[in-house]
Amino acid sequence: MVVRPYSNEELWNPHPYQLPKRSRLNHIIPVAVGTPFIESLTSYITRLAQSHSISISILMTREFAPLLTKHYIQNGSKKGLSTLFNRGAAINSTGELAQLLVNSVEKLTLKQNLSALTLLPFRDFLSSRELLHKTKVWCPDCYQEWRNLTKTIYEPLIWTLKDVEVCSHHNRPLQTICSNCKRQIPWLHSKSRIGYCPYCDRWLGSSNKTETTSNSITLSSKFEKSLWKSKALGELITKSGENSLGIKQDNIAKAIREIINITHQGNIASFAKSLNLPRNTVWMWHEGKSIPKLKFILDICYCFDISLLSFLQLEKAAFQSLDINCQKLTDTILIKRVSPKDFDSEKIENALQTILNSQQIPPPTMKEVAKRLGFDRRIISKHCPELCKAISAKYRRYQNQIRATKIDECCQEVRQAVSALIEKGEYPSEARVSRLISQPGYFRYKKVRMVLKDAKSKQNF
Ligand SMILES: [Zn+2]
Ligand SMILES: [Zn+2]
Repeated sequence: MVVRPYSNEELWNPHPYQLPKRSRLNHIIPVAVGTPFIESLTSYITRLAQSHSISISILMTREFAPLLTKHYIQNGSKKGLSTLFNRGAAINSTGELAQLLVNSVEKLTLKQNLSALTLLPFRDFLSSRELLHKTKVWCPDCYQEWRNLTKTIYEPLIWTLKDVEVCSHHNRPLQTICSNCKRQIPWLHSKSRIGYCPYCDRWLGSSNKTETTSNSITLSSKFEKSLWKSKALGELITKSGENSLGIKQDNIAKAIREIINITHQGNIASFAKSLNLPRNTVWMWHEGKSIPKLKFILDICYCFDISLLSFLQLEKAAFQSLDINCQKLTDTILIKRVSPKDFDSEKIENALQTILNSQQIPPPTMKEVAKRLGFDRRIISKHCPELCKAISAKYRRYQNQIRATKIDECCQEVRQAVSALIEKGEYPSEARVSRLISQPGYFRYKKVRMVLKDAKSKQNF
């Protein structure tokens, strides 16, 4: 709802005053519009629910479902809602779901230009493959800073991009799991609250100053590249509010052709070889038959020291000053192609055995092992299936042990909480006990519920 002060003319006008149209939901203002840290649509929806003191589920089923044309959401059923929550990342993306939600939110809030809170302005030239972080990532320092400065706490759109791994404002890696319950957090959840974990209700910001500084990592070349990517994407996102970006889909093919012409005299094979890319893939990009994933566009820009915006907008001057002998080229392996001939079974078997026998805590996953050895997980698994299974089993055992220890700790906390409540003369209900323990989400485990039941029965409840 927009409240505009009356002008003198209107106050003294004898004709009845025409009230501006009222919005069904609060007309809240998106945060940081026109900056690299513009708010995301899932964040806006979450704040919208908070502003009405209702859960996301209620907001979705009662307000959005009737407006959404997709049958699974339209019914407002539990299953439909969970499908929508599972596709939370897509709400901020370039597809139909993002457009549907933008239209609905605009209709209900009468707020315009909300597509800028999604990647829709870039849909003509962004490949949707591996574009997004499927679950939430965040900068604890950003959350903490906004809270300390009593600013609006929100989630920037830039955090949704898979290629954004560091916060360019705090020079630190983004966090991907809750440090308390160790779970990944979906972009939208029935209990979503900005800045809090929906599973254990813990604050996701940095808890103190030491955490803030100790997490900042030194400038390694990998970190430098991640930081460059975050800044480059920030520049692009800043443009999301502009009506015409002037970037067409075939700009990418033109830019790649231009780079190959300047740096490799038009020789696709030689360009592909120098970047360790499959020749056919580069040919498809060159001919405009496929759009490279965002990761590859960023890698090429980083290699040749050209800004992402200049690349996409085909800025002539930037192409003329390309860094032809770029040193970064040798550091950057875009697609690691390993010939089956290079696979030394005996060497890999020994390496796997060493990893299996090592006392490393936590034990590595097979994904990490494959990355360390430089081969695809499937190839390793085909040659050494038993060792791979053993490594995965060791990792699972460790995870189970950790969970069991945490459940035991929680049981102990429940017993203490029950005693404390009884001492105060209060009934030890699950809700009261939940408020006193560090991980109330653990009531989902039968063992914890049984401990509560047992503690209550001992006190004759
Ligand atoms: Zn930050
Ligand atoms: Zn948590």
